[in-house]
Amino acid sequence: MSTLILKPGREKSLLRRHPWIFSGAVDKVTGNPQPGETVEVRDAQGNWLGRAAYSPVSQIRARVWTFDPEETVDADFFRRKIQSALNRRNAAGLKQASDAIRLVHAESDGLPGLVVDRYGEILVLQLLTAGCEFWRETLADLLLEQTGATAIYERSDADVRALEGLSARTGLLRGSSIEPRITIIEYGLKFLVNIETGHKTGFYLDQRANRKRVGELAQGRDVLNCFCYTGGFSIYAAAGGAQSVLSVDTSSEALALGQENAQLNGMQTNNLDWLEADVFTALRKFRDQNRSWDLILLDPPKFAPTAAQAEKAARGYKDINRLAFKLLRPGGILVTFSCSGGIDAALFQKIVASAALDAGVEAQIVEYLTQGPDHPVSLHFPEGAYLKGLVLVKG
Ligand code: SAH
Repeated sequence: MSTLILKPGREKSLLRRHPWIFSGAVDKVTGNPQPGETVEVRDAQGNWLGRAAYSPVSQIRARVWTFDPEETVDADFFRRKIQSALNRRNAAGLKQASDAIRLVHAESDGLPGLVVDRYGEILVLQLLTAGCEFWRETLADLLLEQTGATAIYERSDADVRALEGLSARTGLLRGSSIEPRITIIEYGLKFLVNIETGHKTGFYLDQRANRKRVGELAQGRDVLNCFCYTGGFSIYAAAGGAQSVLSVDTSSEALALGQENAQLNGMQTNNLDWLEADVFTALRKFRDQNRSWDLILLDPPKFAPTAAQAEKAARGYKDINRLAFKLLRPGGILVTFSCSGGIDAALFQKIVASAALDAGVEAQIVEYLTQGPDHPVSLHFPEGAYLKGLVLVKG
C-alpha cells in the first residue's frame, strides 16, 4: 500500500482524530496511489497514524477512514460504519417524526464525503470526495443491503466535487425507474420533494425540528418567511394557526412547489402568499411601504462556505437582520439562521446584535436553535456544527 508521510510536527490534528490532512502538511507520498485509493499515513518519524483516502488534486490531500491499525478499509469496514450511522438515527427516535431522514452525514458519521438521505423508500446519495467516488459501487450495494431501500438516486452535483477533480454526476444508481417527485410526511405534514432538481438532495432535512418550533410560535401571527424554498416553514406556520404567511424566494420552481405543498395539506390559500423576489430588495421595499409582521424568518443560503468569505458574509447577514428588526412589530419574533461554516455561533450572535443596534431596537434571545439529530456532530470534527439559529423577541 502507498504511504503518505507528514512534515515534522504536522501530526497534531490527527492525534486529536480530526480526519483532514491538508496538502501543506504532506512531506511526500510513496508508491503511486490513484485518486481515492487508501494510503497509510505516517508522521515524520515513521509512526503509523491512520489509513486515509488519497485525493491528489484537493487542498485536503487525504481524509482519514480509520485511526485503528487493526482495521482494514474494505467492504466490511463500510458496512460497520453505515450500521453505526443507522443505529444513531434509531437512537434519536426520528422514525416517528418523518420518513425523510439523513442517514449518513459525512465526516460527522466517520465517513468523509458521504451523504445519504432517505426519502421514503428511496435513498439520495452524494459522493463528495475522491475517496467516496473510489468506493461508489461498494457503498451503493451496502446501502441497499443495510436499509432495505428500493432505489438509490445519485446527486453528486455539489460544487465541492470540482475541488476534488471530480465532475458532476446525477442519475439512478440502483433500482428501476423512479418518480422524481416524492411525497414525504414530516410531523404529519406532507411535502413534495423533487430529488432530481431540488436543492442539495431535495429538502432541507436539517431544519425539521426548527420548522416544528416555528409552527408552535405562529398562532395568530402575520408571518414573513424569507428564503422560503418550497415553503417548509410556511406550511408549519399555517398549520400552527398563523393569520397570514408571505413567503419570499428567488426560485420560481421552489415557490411553485411551495404552493403545491399548501394544497397538499388542504390549506386555505387565501392567507398564504408567495413572492418571487430578491430578499435584500424586498425587505427594503417593505420598509418603504411601512409594512410590518409579528414573526419573521430568515433562512438564507450559505453566504460564507469558509472563514475566508466571513467578512463579506457578515455584511449580508447584518443587512437582512437589521431590516427584519425594523419590519417587526413590538413583541414580534425574529427567527434567524446562518448555515455558513465560516461563521461560528459566537460571531453570528455578534452580527445579529449589531444589526439590532443599527436598527435601534431592543431584542432578547429566547432560544438557540441548531441542526436536527440526523445531522450529528463528531467531537473530533467541530466543523460539523454548521447550523446556528436564534429566536429573538423584539422589546
Ligand atoms: N428555509 C428553507 C430552506 C432555505 S434554503 C426550508 O426550510 O426548506 C435558501 C433559499 O434561499 C433557496 O430556496 C434559494 O432559492 C433562496 N435564495 C437564495 N438567494 C436569495 C435571495 N437573494 N433572495 C431570495 N431568495 C434567495
